[in-house]
Amino acid sequence: MSDTPVLKVENLNVEFATFGGAVRAVRGVSYEVYEGKTLAVVGESGCGKSVTVQTIMGLIPCPPGKVTAGSAKLCGRELLTLSKEELNKIRGAEIGMIFQDPMTSLNPTMKIGDQIAETLVVHRGMSRREGLTEARRLLDRTRIPEAAERARQYPFEFSGGMLQRVMIAMSLACKPKLLIADEPTTALDVTIQAQVLELMREIQREDGMSIILITHDLAVVARMADDVAVMYAGEVVESGPVDEIFYRGSHPYTLGLQQAMPDARHDAGRQLDAIPGSPPDLFAPPSGCGYHPRCPHAMQVCTKASPASFEISPGHQASCWLNHADAPRPETAASPVGSAQE
Ligand code: SF4
Repeated sequence: MSDTPVLKVENLNVEFATFGGAVRAVRGVSYEVYEGKTLAVVGESGCGKSVTVQTIMGLIPCPPGKVTAGSAKLCGRELLTLSKEELNKIRGAEIGMIFQDPMTSLNPTMKIGDQIAETLVVHRGMSRREGLTEARRLLDRTRIPEAAERARQYPFEFSGGMLQRVMIAMSLACKPKLLIADEPTTALDVTIQAQVLELMREIQREDGMSIILITHDLAVVARMADDVAVMYAGEVVESGPVDEIFYRGSHPYTLGLQQAMPDARHDAGRQLDAIPGSPPDLFAPPSGCGYHPRCPHAMQVCTKASPASFEISPGHQASCWLNHADAPRPETAASPVGSAQE
């Protein structure tokens, strides 16, 4: 496997113009996705995780959206400066996408087999007959029973889990280098969720495809991810290998997410600790560290200066002043804003 990332996002900044002013939805996001690996991007709703990938795919409307800085390279090729036509060729062919609600991506008036075949005709130059044969093979590969019969049916005749399998089949049609899965199992019950996730892993093992998995569910992260990027208020606040994030998580927001996660094996009856407060208004993000209004460890410096990115261990970074050599130790740091020293 190559050490060169399949996707490299650097210092990406995205704003949306509104009547009330500019909303800074993505602020300096950087991450990398490697061949055959899964990067999970986690965070609360509105933290910028979906806007980041939609920007990479050229799916945000401009205006009101605007990329104010940054770069996103797929196998070394800059995506942010491509024309609409060039991006259309890349979407589907080199980057596949699966969304939370498959019905928003499928045409309700077209048979499933025809929709998959159309992708193959456009991107792989197959004839319609070849496309339909391949569509049936892909449906079979994603374990849709009686694939030939199901290919002749319409989306409304499928259950949610089966539709998500159809989306996986469709996204695999062109053998993409990168699959972006945006909350792909959020709408499914846990049994079907497990089956769909296992299917994605199996196909990844066979095809060596890279995956960006966007989710707010840490159980899904633990099951699927090789690397994790934790986002808050439009920024990546902590990133690293999945074991590092789970067992040596450093940023107070990451730890807050973990505390809010149920664990049936160890915590029967435990009351979950919700993170107090709510995410900030990105019209006017807080000064300094974006998490300081909710952070139990906030210090004076946190309200004034954005934390640098500190290396916790090789490949593991966290943007938090508590990692500074002069910061108070955690037991003394748990003081409200204004009570600790700068
Ligand atoms: Fe942010 Fe300060 Fe809390 Fe670290 S300690 S997360 S820098 S507010």
